[in-house]
Formats: sequence, C-alpha cells, structure tokens
Amino acid sequence: MEILGSQYSERIDELCAHLKRLSGTDVAFDDRIETDEIFGTPAGLYRSDERHPRISLPTGAPEQIVAHELLHGILCFHGYPGFSVAMRQRWPYPTDVAREICHCAVHIIIDKLLGQIRYDVVGTKTQNAAERLENLRSIVPTLDNVSSKHWWSIRVACEITYHRAQPSLNESVARDFATESAGLLPISVELASELHRHCTAMNSQDRASVKVAIRNMLRTVEGVFGQHPHCQDLCKKVVITPVYVNKIQLCSRAEKLLHFEEARGQDRQDRRDKPFLIIGHRQTGETLTVTDYLSAGELREERINLKTYLRKPLRAMLDHCRIKYFQTDSRRSQNLGPLLPEGLCSS
Ligand SMILES: [Zn+2]
Repeated sequence: MEILGSQYSERIDELCAHLKRLSGTDVAFDDRIETDEIFGTPAGLYRSDERHPRISLPTGAPEQIVAHELLHGILCFHGYPGFSVAMRQRWPYPTDVAREICHCAVHIIIDKLLGQIRYDVVGTKTQNAAERLENLRSIVPTLDNVSSKHWWSIRVACEITYHRAQPSLNESVARDFATESAGLLPISVELASELHRHCTAMNSQDRASVKVAIRNMLRTVEGVFGQHPHCQDLCKKVVITPVYVNKIQLCSRAEKLLHFEEARGQDRQDRRDKPFLIIGHRQTGETLTVTDYLSAGELREERINLKTYLRKPLRAMLDHCRIKYFQTDSRRSQNLGPLLPEGLCSS
C-alpha cells in the first residue's frame, strides 16, 4: 500500500485494516513531526489524544516505523495504557514523569509484537541506543541543577530498562550504555534495575498487568526521588489512562465516584504556582491533577465548571477534562479479538 508517497508491504496493509476495524475509521497519515531537544526527531508519532487514529511520519519512513506507530494505535484501541506525546524541554510535572514511565512499558510491548511479525527489533534498538548515547554525552555535562539531573536520571533509567527488555539489544551495546550512563548519571542505573524488575512481571497479552507494572514503576520513582516535589505522591497525582469504567459508572453522577479537592502547588520554584484541582476515584484512590489541562488564565472559570460537572454523568466530566476512558463491559470491548491480525502471525 502507499502512504505519503511511499510503498509498503502487505504487513502494513494488514495492520492498517486491523486498526481500522478497531477504531471504526480510516487511519489518517500526515508528515507533521516535532523535534525533541535531546532525543532528536522522533521516527514517527501516534497521536493518541485524538479519537481517530492519526499517525505522523517523515517522508519515506522505514516500514518498521510505520508498523510501530500502527501498533501504538492498536494497543490504544485495546485499552492499553498510553499518554499523549508532548515534547517538553522544561522541568517536568508529575504527568511528564508518568508519561516517560508509560512509554517505557508500552514500547517494550510494541517491540515484542514487532518481533512476532518478524521485524528486526534488535537492529533498530541497537542503532537508536548509539544515537541516544551520543546525545546524552553532550547534554549531561550541561545539566546545572539537581532537578534537571533527577529528571534526566529518570529518562535514562527508562531507556536502560527498555534496552534490557526482550527482545533486548546486543548485550555488549546494552552494557556499554548502562556503564556510560552510570558514569554520567549514577542513580539512573540503580533506578533501572528496579524498573526492570517490574517490567519482567508484565504480560503483554494482559493490559491490566501493564497498568500494574506502570503503577509499581511510579512507586519506585517516588521512593528514589520522593524528596523532590514533582515526584511526591506520583501515584496519587496521575491517572494512567485510559480509565476503565463500565456503562453504569459512566452514566452515574461524577460526585458518586469522584472526590474533589483543591490544593496549592508546593514547589516555590514552580512559576506556575497556583491552585490545582484533584479529581480522585473514591474506591481506588487514583487521582489526577488537571492543571496540565488548563491554561493559567482559564483556571478560575474552569474550577467552577468542574464543580458543576460533579453533578453530571461521569462521562461528561471525563470528556471535559479530555481523560481517555475505556468502557470495560461494552460489547465492543469484549469482541476486540487478538492484538495482532491472525494472518500476520501465522504466515
Ligand atoms: Zn512509539
């Protein structure tokens, strides 16, 4: 099939058709690619914040990249955890830390699936590792405060964890990456060995086990960097989307399921120091700060609006905050079928 002027094999055809079956719409492709200061230009981008699958690719993207992005979409419509990608260079907020952890776990699953449909995962991982190490060598010496060193330690720990996961990259390259990272950001290697432990407990066929692994990884980060305001109570400050809810919960008044409190940012360095809202799930204790969803000027008005949403169905609140949810008991979710198109695995 042809995508953005390039020809791809039947495997891409099958993945596209599979994603279309899941989403109910055609997959849209465009060439809007944004660059991350450190990790460079992403090879591709799945825009998971949109309800219709949309994939951004550079012209002439390799086939494996196209397959990778399609798998993001397939996992997303199967209700696997996922955060929308936002390239950020400033000191992260809890959602950024969570996004990093989530990406690590989800990419481990994607590589397993790519391996199952016979793509060269190890070769690509090894090449990426060399490029990222090169970037790290130049960025780490410029980190001039504890906060940014912590943030980069988390990112690098996720990277090491991803390298170690099966199918893992060339052993000596993985060892070199970890050894050099240990020299640059010592705590990253210690953190990575904990994160790795949680990832090995993950079952790629079971989205719930992936969510559990992510939660455990967040707890580990909390334990290591808990003294830093952005890593305190991480598990309480983020919701791993999609939230799984059933039809009855979706139609129930939000206040039945959620508690609502207002708090004030504690970090004095946070120039956005302002009240933020916490929506929490009464039973699971999962909470979400919604500051990230609001621009400063709108906050007062939004706070009032959110309170009014508490009396409306939960669905309205989730839609308003753009929190993705997955209806667990719908006929659609029960009939999703296997993660990969069957023909693709057996041929
Ligand atoms: Zn990806």
